[in-house]
Amino acid sequence: MARYTGSVCRLCRREGTKLFLKGDRCLSGKCALEKRPNVPGQHGAGRKNVKEYGLQLREKQKAKRYYGVLESQFKGYFEKADKTEGVTGENLLSLLERRLDNVVYRIGLADSRKEAASGQARQFVTHGHFRLNGKKVTIPSLIVRAGDVITLREESRSSEKFKNLIEALDTRITPKWIELDKAQVVAKVAALPARDDVDFPFEEHLIVELYSK
Ligand code: SF4
Repeated sequence: MARYTGSVCRLCRREGTKLFLKGDRCLSGKCALEKRPNVPGQHGAGRKNVKEYGLQLREKQKAKRYYGVLESQFKGYFEKADKTEGVTGENLLSLLERRLDNVVYRIGLADSRKEAASGQARQFVTHGHFRLNGKKVTIPSLIVRAGDVITLREESRSSEKFKNLIEALDTRITPKWIELDKAQVVAKVAALPARDDVDFPFEEHLIVELYSK
């Protein structure tokens, strides 16, 4: 399935919730969802009565879009989560949080992880700006493990885009499962993310119900 390249704000309007796909703009009065909170399309404003399947589907779409994951990848994460010991929904969110592009976004070294092909976190990883345990990585979907160390390449640190992001690190809150040395720009995965480390109110049980049909 092709990656979505349309307006990412439209995705928020479709889900009826902010997915925070456009960096600082999402926190400003320019947010499209605040201006036009109805579902896009001709009949959007009148859409009501979402049935159980619809709710489950929407929750899955919301998570997929939030993390910028394709359908097949998402299903793969679910299957892996289902085979892992513990609560499937929580395992699923933990896996999504541990994607390398999400980690880069969460530590503040990208403005967005949005679904569009130009998503900054995805792009930075693809362009080889980071090292994982000392080795160059270019795969945004790579799942980090406890103990992994992510560093910004020395050559990349002097570029204007990273200088600005590094300067702004002091204003960002680092998730507690990541230890970030802001001066050295070194992030260590201190532990696997738990449910309360996910900063979005997903109802993951709906996704589990959808795939369990
Ligand atoms: Fe969604 Fe951000 Fe666009 Fe608002 S500005 S609609 S939160 S992507």
